[in-house]
Amino acid sequence: MTMRARLAVMILASTLVAGTASAQDANPKLDAYKTEAVRGVDEMAKLAQEMVDSVFSFGELGFQEVETSKYLTGQLEKFGFRVQRGVAGMPTAWVATWGSGKPVIALGSDIDGIPQASQKPGVAYRDPIVEGAPGHGEGHNTGVPLNIVAALAVKKIMERDKLPGTLMLWPGVAEELDGAKAWYIREGLFKDVDVVLFTHVGNNLDVSWGDRGGTGLVSVEYTFEGETAHSAGAPWRGRSALDAVELMSVGWQYRREHLRLSHRSHHVITNGGDQPNVVPRNASLWFYLREIDQPHIKEVWEIADKMAEGAALMTNTKWTSRILGTGYPQHMNRPVAETVFANIKKVGLPQWSEADQTLARALQKELGNATADGLATKLGEITGPVRLEDNMGGGSDDIGDISWNLPTVTLRYPANIPGLPGHNWSSAIASATPIAHKGVVAGAKVQAMTVLDLLTKPEIIKSAWDYFNNVQTKDVKYIPFIKADTPPATHLNTEILAKYREQMRKYYYDPTKYKTYLEQLGIEYPTVRPTGGVKQEQE
Ligand SMILES: [Zn+2]
Repeated sequence: MTMRARLAVMILASTLVAGTASAQDANPKLDAYKTEAVRGVDEMAKLAQEMVDSVFSFGELGFQEVETSKYLTGQLEKFGFRVQRGVAGMPTAWVATWGSGKPVIALGSDIDGIPQASQKPGVAYRDPIVEGAPGHGEGHNTGVPLNIVAALAVKKIMERDKLPGTLMLWPGVAEELDGAKAWYIREGLFKDVDVVLFTHVGNNLDVSWGDRGGTGLVSVEYTFEGETAHSAGAPWRGRSALDAVELMSVGWQYRREHLRLSHRSHHVITNGGDQPNVVPRNASLWFYLREIDQPHIKEVWEIADKMAEGAALMTNTKWTSRILGTGYPQHMNRPVAETVFANIKKVGLPQWSEADQTLARALQKELGNATADGLATKLGEITGPVRLEDNMGGGSDDIGDISWNLPTVTLRYPANIPGLPGHNWSSAIASATPIAHKGVVAGAKVQAMTVLDLLTKPEIIKSAWDYFNNVQTKDVKYIPFIKADTPPATHLNTEILAKYREQMRKYYYDPTKYKTYLEQLGIEYPTVRPTGGVKQEQE
């Protein structure tokens, strides 16, 4: 072949490849499905608002999501889903499925709240509904409603056109405790699932693939046992478990200076003894021990065990420990993330009203943020892997455990205000307002479109698994931190809910009487301090 002939063949070949690719991309049927799903989601905006506001009003903490799970599974049954309750040994966990056969697409999101985060929505300063009570100070009231609306929009199309496939919805129970997802994996909940589309509240519409920034963790409670004695009459006969707790606590604070920069750890004292005149026989403290990869999480855990041993030696007490939660560092699937991002670009950000922006800017000012530029108005980008050497730590999410067992992505949707500290009453302010309602609708559109991609283009699922098997898990394997018999810590938060539930019940949202939760609470939207008010904003 002459040089020129070879060149001609190459040009022809590249034209053919390009031609084939665009022929594959042009998929009028899929496009029509997506248009229909987007319209379907818009038509369910009222349902989305009711579900978002209802779950917000329950404000339940991890493992105590009793009303939340009752309500959400009730909705799903009403729409024809089969519900299995109490899965993986957790009373508030469930799986809802509809359809049959392959592919199986699992839509998940968290449902638990944050202690001390009770807050009136739409009010741009701290104003609890019930002082001291928990609330949705992370916006976990929005994700499952988003998934339900997305699933219903797709289900309608699947039913009519008899598309094969199974939709599975599931809740992230006790995400704030990293308490459920490793147990779901151990239980085999996802063994027949092709792809997990997880979703989490954010302040933009975005998605990422590869190793995420942030950490994984083990959550471990250390308990010491000594002996009681009269604290004044015969203190020399007692052995104080509280002394051991204090020594382990202060020892850890010294040691942390010499841990890697990427580590994060924090603890609370869960039992400090009974009363001062009785030497404490039992005392406990609870650590979150975080690092950016499995070997280093294990290492930090071993250091904590040694410190417990040291504290026990110093106080002549005994120690035991129990794992209460665990979250693996996350790795998200590239082909699925790219599919999600193409849909994000089609959906775009919601149209924020002046009232939405006024609330956002007033809250940012209230918190003393350097900038108060309101809600996101420019779409986020898809982001790639964070290199281990660049990862300086941060939060965790037990979706990591799922992401190491099958192709998984997290879609973030704009249902909150940028620039908040997180795990705080301020993150609850937007969570039952038009900001959350619109963010959920936008997210549900992306989620529905992605499900339609996966149902109609098996090549995406194939490349997702190629990536999972041959790239992600080629050299790195999942080594769970829980054992075959580690129980889920379902006792957590029992006392807090026992204390506040009856007071909170008075404020549960009643959609049969009120259009919105804001209306039920009699809140003018937005409510801002006079100094950050609408008038000043417009001057
Ligand atoms: Zn979260």
